[in-house]
Amino acid sequence: MELELIKMCARDLLNANYAIAFTGAGVSTESGIPDFRGPSGIWTRDPEAERRSYEIFGKFLRNPKEYWEEVLKSPFYEILEKAKPNPAHYALAELEEMGIIKAVITQNIDGLHSKAGSKKVLEFHGGIDKLRCIYCGCRFPRQEFAKEIEERKVPICKNCRSPLKMDVVYFTEQIPTDVYDLSLAEAMKCDLMLVCGTSAVVYPAAELPRVAKRRGAKVVEINFEETPLTLEGVSDYIIKGKVGEILPKIVEEVKELRKKQ
Ligand SMILES: [Zn+2]
Repeated sequence: MELELIKMCARDLLNANYAIAFTGAGVSTESGIPDFRGPSGIWTRDPEAERRSYEIFGKFLRNPKEYWEEVLKSPFYEILEKAKPNPAHYALAELEEMGIIKAVITQNIDGLHSKAGSKKVLEFHGGIDKLRCIYCGCRFPRQEFAKEIEERKVPICKNCRSPLKMDVVYFTEQIPTDVYDLSLAEAMKCDLMLVCGTSAVVYPAAELPRVAKRRGAKVVEINFEETPLTLEGVSDYIIKGKVGEILPKIVEEVKELRKKQ
């Protein structure tokens, strides 16, 4: 059953003119990154952390210095920085290298798609390796401000002199218009969307597979279990299992089919 679906997916990828991937927490958890709402998720274990996460954007607006103190206290960024790409990340990078996947839109903030070699990555919820100015939209590598951050000074935008925050998009914060527009354009353009490790319930990211479907694209899910996309008929089919096991098998199958062409 699973093998048949893997073969079908490989054929669909080869037949697509413009395939893209849309990824979520399930791709990161296989790199040892805890999710938020799963059974052993960060917020499941520490509801207080969830409450703080709803307040942190407001804190940045009111008092950037306090905001940065809180960012530096969080153990989360250290976990993310130590994480390494897993076979799912490498498989998507390889599919891009082969000319099959044209872009990866990710809800993950860990930067692991880029680390694995993916070139065109749209970080819908931002990334931990960058800082962003919400006033002029500029982004900067976080490394450029390592000294300020270490000295507990608020990093300042080199373009407009406003305080900078992490590029990561917080609750109550708008998705930056540039990445939102580019992601929507990809969803409208694709004729196949590979939805990996996400149940697509967090809006507005969850719009993307639904937009793709409405525009006539094929939507294929790879996930542990069925999601609202499966139940609502947004996806054409679901391959159930670990993304880190299924995606490499799809890559192998694509290679086999190419040999025969
Ligand atoms: Zn600025």
